Amino acid sequence: MANISLQHLDKIYDNNVQAVFDFNLEVKDGEFIVLVGPSGCGKSTTLRMIAGLEDISAGRLLLDGEDITAAPAKDRDMAMVFQNYALYGHMTVYENMAFSLTLRKEDPNVIHRKVLAAAEILGLTDQLNKKPKQLSGGQRQRVAMGRAIVRNPKVFLFDEPLSNLDAKLRGATRREILLLHKRMNATMLYVTHDQTEALTLADRIVCMSMGHVQQVGTPLELYETPANLFVASFIGLPPMNFFNVTIRNGQAVNKYFTVALTDAEKQLLATYEGKEVTLGVRPENIATGGDVQVKVFSNENLGMSTLVHGRLCGEHAADAAITCKLRGWCDYKAGDTVNVLFEKRHFFDKETTNAIR
Ligand code: ADP
Repeated sequence: MANISLQHLDKIYDNNVQAVFDFNLEVKDGEFIVLVGPSGCGKSTTLRMIAGLEDISAGRLLLDGEDITAAPAKDRDMAMVFQNYALYGHMTVYENMAFSLTLRKEDPNVIHRKVLAAAEILGLTDQLNKKPKQLSGGQRQRVAMGRAIVRNPKVFLFDEPLSNLDAKLRGATRREILLLHKRMNATMLYVTHDQTEALTLADRIVCMSMGHVQQVGTPLELYETPANLFVASFIGLPPMNFFNVTIRNGQAVNKYFTVALTDAEKQLLATYEGKEVTLGVRPENIATGGDVQVKVFSNENLGMSTLVHGRLCGEHAADAAITCKLRGWCDYKAGDTVNVLFEKRHFFDKETTNAIR
């Protein structure tokens, strides 16, 4: 069992920088939580407060109902995996994985059994006698995970564990971490700036910006119903397109296009008549065939789809850039005009930047 309750956590560093504001989260036993956001938004600080590597300035932290706000890191029964592996170069893989247990003076037979079991899970059985420098980056990352596994902690904490790996290895290691989570059924908290990792790994995502939690939800919830402009622009790749529009007579209008609203959208936007709102549309929700005109800049074939970068026709205003992810193989040339339509629209309040629901 490992439930974690984070209650109104604040972190203010000695130089008076407040890195985390009023962080609240109930992590369920066995849950995989991903903290995601741009660099400097307070993800690592939050993770380090949970690990006990940073003091908590205000708020409470409970593990299975027990208050551990001020408990030293070594008493928290959590294991952390870092991006830089932090392996001991002079020790073998086996010794690296056994190290924390040796320190604790566990029975050598028990240590041996645990190291072999972890190596088996991670596919490192043949590497146990090697030194870290003889391993690939991906294998080193697995040794770092092995070191965490042998401790059989209540909670695994990952701080950007894949950011030193190349793209292909990142994908493979991501799948290994998922398998590991399934097998061990452990509670995991994982920090990354990469929205793809968040979408593919998480049971629930916590999206942060500038020390504040912006939204907590399943990957699908954050993708389908982002709470505000920040989450809408951060989750999804390529990012959502945004345009200023005025709501008038059942239409969303600007100088480039007029979009007829559905009945549901009319109802949603009833109090915005005559007002400006932000319309968001994901590149993959744009299709050919409507009457929004796009002047093509570039055409990138991805196989199943084509990324078309362009501008809403004729204008050079900053808000007129658009990226469309069109189905199939397209061969547009720079300067072509394509007619598109927005299949699924999101609307955001101009003042609060919150999604209009
Ligand atoms: P992230 O993990 O999202 O990149 P961090 O949690 O590392 O962000 O940092 C959040 C903010 O706290 C940043 O503004 C960073 O500069 C600041 N910060 C991090 N560590 C310290 C520290 N030891 N002392 C002072 N400020 C820090």
